[in-house]
Amino acid sequence: MMRTLMTQRFVVLFISLFMLSSPLHAAEVDLQQLVNDVHKQFASHNEGKNPDYIPALAAVDSDLFAISIVTADGKKYSAGDKDHSFSIQSIAKAFNLAALMNQQGDQVVVDKIGVNATGLPFSSIMAIELNEERSVNPLVNAGAIATVSLIKAKNAKQKWNIIESNLENFTGTDLKVQKNIYKSETDTNVKNQSIARLLSNYGRLYDDIEVSVDLYTRMCSVGVNTEELAIMGATYANAGINPMTKKEAVKAENVPKLLAVMATSGLYDDSGLWLYKVGLPAKSGVGGGIIAVMPGKYGIAAFSPPVDAAGNSVRAQLAIEEIAKRLKANVFQ
Ligand code: GLU
Repeated sequence: MMRTLMTQRFVVLFISLFMLSSPLHAAEVDLQQLVNDVHKQFASHNEGKNPDYIPALAAVDSDLFAISIVTADGKKYSAGDKDHSFSIQSIAKAFNLAALMNQQGDQVVVDKIGVNATGLPFSSIMAIELNEERSVNPLVNAGAIATVSLIKAKNAKQKWNIIESNLENFTGTDLKVQKNIYKSETDTNVKNQSIARLLSNYGRLYDDIEVSVDLYTRMCSVGVNTEELAIMGATYANAGINPMTKKEAVKAENVPKLLAVMATSGLYDDSGLWLYKVGLPAKSGVGGGIIAVMPGKYGIAAFSPPVDAAGNSVRAQLAIEEIAKRLKANVFQ
């Protein structure tokens, strides 16, 4: 009797401790109210500047601002310009890596690309030169172009189908390339061409140079809205199963590895600062989007075009940081 009582007390204590430290659920917090409040809180925040090294990005309306949360069981909450599609840019890198892993497993990423953070800007040529193994990282341009080059396909058309349908498996929607962004980036991506040539010189590009850069550029130009991005995040939160379509987008065993790369390199040179402040694996893109994942719980996405010096959307960072704080969502907690 005494033992049963002690066991019961232990269980109650354990559950209380767990509830104190675990991230909050939709049942405990009104997530719709939360996204509305956070959207309102930062609605007039106007720091940062649209990137202009891709001219079409400079022309996007800087006032656009949207936030979405999608839970691992498929509930959706959004505020602001949630239907506005913007170019996914680098966020695609964190998902195209899943396409490579689906096809060839996880070791190829270590052997043929590299997984350490470069500590240098996302388009750094020096990062390739300084590292003797030419080991880059799948979330910077060099590693992302190498990822595209590694995907096996009969020809460029089939490779594009793999890349596009992989992203669509994560959103559960039909996606379209934003033609103006694709053209603008194609007209100006000399640096990415140089990166691909340099990788090729060192035997670290695994397909035709032009094809690899073109498919990479097209992938970055795919349009998404915050709800689609949050579904992508929720798919990682849900161990690789898209919570809307219930289909597997990536094998569960690969998800911790994908999230590890996002945690260490998802926010460019500010990845350490982000992880210190927010504690969630995340990935940003120069299109103004950021996606963050609380494993087992939800994907959070925010969009606002003006970015800071590192290339991360200012308001999207603030919004996700605030949401994570209010939900006590932190993978280290
Ligand atoms: N397409 C962009 C580039 O290659 C992606 C950059 C980013 O979002 O970080 O520069």
